[in-house]
Order: sequence, then structure tokens, then C-alpha cells
Amino acid sequence: MKLIFFGTCGGIQTRTNTNVSFLIVDGELSILVDASGNPVHYLERAGVDPRTLDILVLTHTHTDHIYALPSLIHNLWLMKREKPLSIISNQFTLMKAQELCTCFSLLSKENLFQIDWVKDNLGRIELFTVDHSTPTSGFKIKSSTTAIVYSSDTSPCKRVIQEAEGAKALIHEASNTSEFEDRLNSAGHSSGRQAGEVAARAGVETLFLCHFDPQYANDSTELMAEAGISFNGEVIVPELFKTYEV
Ligand SMILES: [Zn+2]
Repeated sequence: MKLIFFGTCGGIQTRTNTNVSFLIVDGELSILVDASGNPVHYLERAGVDPRTLDILVLTHTHTDHIYALPSLIHNLWLMKREKPLSIISNQFTLMKAQELCTCFSLLSKENLFQIDWVKDNLGRIELFTVDHSTPTSGFKIKSSTTAIVYSSDTSPCKRVIQEAEGAKALIHEASNTSEFEDRLNSAGHSSGRQAGEVAARAGVETLFLCHFDPQYANDSTELMAEAGISFNGEVIVPELFKTYEV
């Protein structure tokens, strides 16, 4: 599977980085994870025709993860997309996502492509609940040879460890350093140290870090070092628009 990050920031954007979202490509299947920034522009830059995008996963309703959904749907409609698009999430997020689209009267557009609103599971993608301040889903995607798990926004969560056991790569949020763990955990977030601990317990090979507070958005060396205290595998702070093979 190919993994391409479009942004690795948490809620606050910076001059050179933006809210976390990424693309997974597995053969013919393309999956966009969360709708922030400029999804169509990102897909074009990544070499994926937006009219062929198969699946959008929405992890939760916090603004930085969902605000670009209306823009994505509007762009695809203007581009005369014909292929159905599956949008996967938990029940609450699906409801809010539909409300957001309804604000812009998008779902009643003439000749709008079919949108399949899918709860929790679709084929090789399985969502699971994590510990955040609103109903939030992490997910696992399996291919014939490997699996990737994404924590989404969460404090350290047993379910993430369980799901990531046997997976090759874990994408885990690391909002800030261990110095702020109390504040982070009470807001449903994790430190770099805790992301490393989760990866070590799950036994994955590679840990991708993301969802950084702005002071770590452009230099996450400190968070990588923290993650490496308990995790012996490879820790990656994703370079934007670089393709990672998992
Ligand atoms: Zn959140």
C-alpha cells in the first residue's frame, strides 16, 4: 500500500503545514482520510484523478477533520464525476457530515454522483472506537500482505494496540511532548512518548507520527525522540506529498 500525507498538523495550521489528512492507495483502490484543506488539489498533486477516488473515511466531526467535505463534494460535482463515492464513518459523524453538506444544498444538486454513506465497515476497512472528546473512529485497512492502522485523535487507547497487533504500520497522533500528558490525555490526545509506547506494545514495524501542535509542525525531532524511548522500530515524521510504501 502507498501512503501520502497532505498535512500533519493538529487543529492549528502553519505557514508550511496544514491539518492532518492523507491518502492510501492500494492497487486500484484510493482512500482519502479526512477532509481538510484542499482535497481535490491534494489528490491532483498526488497523481490521483479526484473523479476516481473510491472512498472517503471521516474519523470524527472536529472542524480540522471535516471542514473541507462540502468543498470536496462541490468540486467533484462541478467536475461531473459519475462514479459513486463511499463515505465511511461512525453513525454520529455520518449524520453531521450530511448536515454539513445540506448547509450548502449539495445533496440536492442535479446530476450529483451517488454517495454511499457507510457505517463502520467497508470491505477491507474496519473502523473502531477510540478515546477522544467526541465519537471518533480509528481504522484498520488490510491488504493481502500487510495492514495499516490509524489511531485518529485519541488518548492512549487499548483498542488501538489490539487492532495494530500484527499490522505493519501504525499511524498515531502525537500532539505534543510528555511534559503535557495530563492536559493532552484529558483532551483525548497523546504525547510522542505515548505514541511510541502504543507502537511498542502492538509490535508494529513502523510508526508514523502526525497531528502535531504548531511548535512541532515543522520540526518534530523531539516527538520522534520521545517515541523512540520504548519503540525500537522505525519512527517516521511524514514528509508532505512523499509516497511511503507500506
Ligand atoms: Zn479531534
